[in-house]
Amino acid sequence: MGVVITLRGVSRLYGSAKALDDVSLEFAAGGATALMGQSGAGKSTLLHLIGGMDLPDSGEILIEDRPLPRRGLDAHRRRVGFVFQRFHLLPALSVLDNVLAPVLPYRVDFDRKARARELIEAVGLAGRERATPGELSGGQQQRVAIARALITRPPLMLADEPTGNLDTATGQEIVDLLMGLREQYGMTMLIATHNPELAATCDRVLRLRDGRVVGDDRLAPADDVLDRIGRLG
Ligand code: ADP
Repeated sequence: MGVVITLRGVSRLYGSAKALDDVSLEFAAGGATALMGQSGAGKSTLLHLIGGMDLPDSGEILIEDRPLPRRGLDAHRRRVGFVFQRFHLLPALSVLDNVLAPVLPYRVDFDRKARARELIEAVGLAGRERATPGELSGGQQQRVAIARALITRPPLMLADEPTGNLDTATGQEIVDLLMGLREQYGMTMLIATHNPELAATCDRVLRLRDGRVVGDDRLAPADDVLDRIGRLG
């Protein structure tokens, strides 16, 4: 269920600035971790490196004890579902085709359309397969983006501010959906967020500042979790 992720001394530089500065971490298989910290702290950089969309300048990242290669990361990326703040749907395509888009270029050993329909239902959009993104609310568009992220049944889900563009109530619906899907599909989940409610539903909160880990809290499900996140904030 999910994958173990290990970072050993990972740094990512932009010029002389360190977006990530010698970060060593381990993420348990099936865990849900919130990444918090101010804008510019390094959250997106960390997600991009783990997702194989960027390369570290030093250190290494291991997935299930195997170092990520510096070339040929396509196979890794297909095992990662990515959800963004701004949805990034293709506006001219239907909901169904947006969900199918990541697997259209590949030969796959499952029925693409059947799986896409199943995921559209799982995110609560059954009946809207033929709608285009412009006909949907922000929350509905994020649901489509989440279904798209799951089309390869990834063991790893990365989300970058998934509720950042949504009002509080809609954001909460997306949080509930993500956590339900994580249980249903058994993924390791990393979520960059400023949303304390979202962080409180995770089992771990990592806090970054200037590219370094400055807090690492394991959360037990408890009523005072939100208070603790607030104090950490
Ligand atoms: P966060 O997601 O926490 O807001 P980022 O990972 O986006 O932080 O950024 C970390 C640091 O790296 C910031 O100082 C940011 O300006 C810098 N950075 C990120 N991407 C680039 C880039 N493509 N070019 C130059 N600097 C960048």
